[in-house]
Amino acid sequence: MTLAEPLLSLSHTPPPVKGHKLLSAYDIAKLGFFLFGFPRNGFGSIDVSKECNLRCKHCYFFEQDYESEFSVEQWVAKLEDLKRTRSRLEFPFFQCTWVGGEPLIRKDLIERGRKYFRYNTVVTNGTIPLPEWPDVNWYISIDGDEETHERIRNKKGIYKRAMRNIAEHPDLNVTIAYCITRGNVHCLEQAIIDWAAAGATRMTFDFYTPIETIEEREQSCGDSEGLFLPLHERDRVLDQLIALKKIYGDFFVLPERVFRMMKSDVAKQVTDNCLFATKSFAFGPTGVQKEKCMMGPKADCDRCGCVVPFYMASLTDRRRIVEDVSSELRHAARRAARGAVTAILG
Ligand code: SF4
Ligand code: SF4
Repeated sequence: MTLAEPLLSLSHTPPPVKGHKLLSAYDIAKLGFFLFGFPRNGFGSIDVSKECNLRCKHCYFFEQDYESEFSVEQWVAKLEDLKRTRSRLEFPFFQCTWVGGEPLIRKDLIERGRKYFRYNTVVTNGTIPLPEWPDVNWYISIDGDEETHERIRNKKGIYKRAMRNIAEHPDLNVTIAYCITRGNVHCLEQAIIDWAAAGATRMTFDFYTPIETIEEREQSCGDSEGLFLPLHERDRVLDQLIALKKIYGDFFVLPERVFRMMKSDVAKQVTDNCLFATKSFAFGPTGVQKEKCMMGPKADCDRCGCVVPFYMASLTDRRRIVEDVSSELRHAARRAARGAVTAILG
């Protein structure tokens, strides 16, 4: 992609967004973060399994070398211990993301563990049937359009399998999480079209964060460009996402300000003060708090593309929130005015 190319190359006619509540309990909690900041350990992650049925080449998890994992009983004992020894201020059991490896390999652990937290998210690769857990926010990770996703994940049939998973569970709240790399940036728009049509509830985006050992491997194989998208190219993709957000609206989880905060002129301010690292828990498969964040000690903070620190910062950045709300109100007014004109003209 060059600077001279238009931001969008495909035509977009998004289907209506699936039932979002006007104001959820979670939105009210967000108001609390806006007013009072983030509670320590309010958000965090648990690595459910040290195994995965796929092996994607960009996966940070398998750079962390786990040899064992807690049994369900050991996890329950750990959560009970946290409940007993920490005050609600220190560990509020507000939200937990169940991740991995592939978490659905160990449904029994999530079945028990999620009862401890008010909100739960499960991040899966979409190859295993989703259990009917309507209280969970589901995230399916996708790495491109059909051809690219299956090439990166080295397995045929998994794109459509994830789509069937969504179709078979129309009542579940499923967000598609797209990690943008040098290898899949070209098909971003097509993937958005595919997943909006497939009935996903929402979509969110990360950029690949360089992991020291993956970069060393890439260089030793002569792949000097690697998966990382340099920041000036990332800025261009962020402009593309902002343009798409104006079309897809609430289908994109992230408010526009998150994309603006990921741009190269602001990103380092956010990652130097990473709320994910300072405010969240990230327990590895043996219950040990990981260094830095969920991505582990080898992640490069200066080139971080994980959306979480940007999203967390966006929930407490009052100036940008006010700007976004005014811009959303202006968009809504324009949409309403266009609707009224169309109705009058018949
Ligand atoms: S599906 Fe997810 S956990 Fe499994 S290898 Fe790929 S990125 Fe890692
Ligand atoms: S890699 Fe990103 S999310 Fe992790 S600690 Fe560094 S800045 Fe935060």
